[in-house]
Amino acid sequence: MDQNEALNRLREGNRRYVSGAIEQKDFGPRREELKSGQHPFATVVACSDSRVVPEYIFDVGLGDVFTVVSAGNVVDKVGIGSVEYAVGHLHTPLLVVLGHEKCGAVKAAYHNHDESNITAIVKKLAPSIKKAKKGGNEEEELDKAAVFNVKAVMRKLKKSPIVKKALDEGRLKIVGMKYHLDGKVEVVA
Ligand SMILES: [Zn+2]
Repeated sequence: MDQNEALNRLREGNRRYVSGAIEQKDFGPRREELKSGQHPFATVVACSDSRVVPEYIFDVGLGDVFTVVSAGNVVDKVGIGSVEYAVGHLHTPLLVVLGHEKCGAVKAAYHNHDESNITAIVKKLAPSIKKAKKGGNEEEELDKAAVFNVKAVMRKLKKSPIVKKALDEGRLKIVGMKYHLDGKVEVVA
């Protein structure tokens, strides 16, 4: 599968998810198939939010997407390493950074929430908050910050030598997306 086919598969899956026409999954035979190895067609960096489940949102099955999940879809060394494994060793042709509407982590960062290890997430989001927070409407600024964060994570991932090499060689496409809680995924970068 090439990059555009992979992207189309996610788009079509999201259309099915929104319309309620999701495909029947027969996990038994697929589990058997996957015993010999995994060949996911996309790596998805997503938020831990329980409403944002990549496999549901894109109507994909077992073995289809390699997910890297954290609150606020931010990445640290472990997150970037996970993406590098998927891109460099599993050769996924598509890398998606998926932000979303009404993200609790983005909101926590907006209000400078400082508590235990949550602060580490807030710090990662801080530059995007700073860019979006101009004393205007909070909801609008939160929305903007979520998109800025998607772009910031994309920039960070592009700095990985493994990701950069795959992009330079045309083996990988990177796309930024935003999930709306009504079900729709929008391409934002
Ligand atoms: Zn979130």
